[in-house]
Amino acid sequence: MKFLQPRFLMLFDFDETIIRDNSDDSAVCLLPSQELPAWLVNSYREGHYHEYSAKIMAYLADQGVTKECIKSGVENIPPNPGLLDLFRFLQSHQQDFELVVVSDANMYFIETWLEHAGFRHLFKRIFTNPSHFDTAGCLVLRPFHSHSCTRCPENMCKQAILREYLADREKERGGVGFQRVFYVGDGSNDVCPTHALGPQDTAFARRDYPMHRLLLEMQQSQSAKPKANVVPWVTGNDIVDFESKETPNRQIIMINKLTLI
Ligand SMILES: [Mg+2]
Ligand SMILES: [Zn+2]
Repeated sequence: MKFLQPRFLMLFDFDETIIRDNSDDSAVCLLPSQELPAWLVNSYREGHYHEYSAKIMAYLADQGVTKECIKSGVENIPPNPGLLDLFRFLQSHQQDFELVVVSDANMYFIETWLEHAGFRHLFKRIFTNPSHFDTAGCLVLRPFHSHSCTRCPENMCKQAILREYLADREKERGGVGFQRVFYVGDGSNDVCPTHALGPQDTAFARRDYPMHRLLLEMQQSQSAKPKANVVPWVTGNDIVDFESKETPNRQIIMINKLTLI
């Protein structure tokens, strides 16, 4: 039933893209002191964020921050402005868009937040670091995968994830690929996956955040120019405006639905 397959794939980063803040920073605010000790902060090594994040979780457990406290802390992280409007738009266009999260946060945070926001069902897959609470109540993080990309942190190359997903889905869809791919992100680790995008695709880069700055630099240099369109975004509504043009025939339906609310 090829005609029922979504035409578009849209991938989302999580921290500072779907949610307003970095989820680890929000978790740190649950500490009685609301900050990490210097020895922990100083132990951060460039390119090893995953390891640092695991240390933060261990410290939270050590300081008596419970699973319940973490759960409600994560649920209460605000979305980025307009992101829920974007999710509602995508919900009303589910026949067009397949949605995926690709994030270096962790599964517990992402599922907890999306379920609380009421949008978990929109996402076909969540690619992120596996996590579970151990018997001592510590959220244990494991690396997502290993890869051979020299640009990315050891535990995750989002380009490798995207390429593998595109190949798998094309096979599952009987050889039919997506017409367009959209990638929404903000961070420096959101640049690598944009190399898997073609001229028909779009990289939505949060304006003035590292992904945007790095893509602008790449556009100005002659080497490694991104093939995809680069569209800066400030709120989720900027992305709704863009996608509305991709799905003009369904606009009427959406407007009707909104007026009924
Ligand atoms: Mg991010
Ligand atoms: Zn990479």
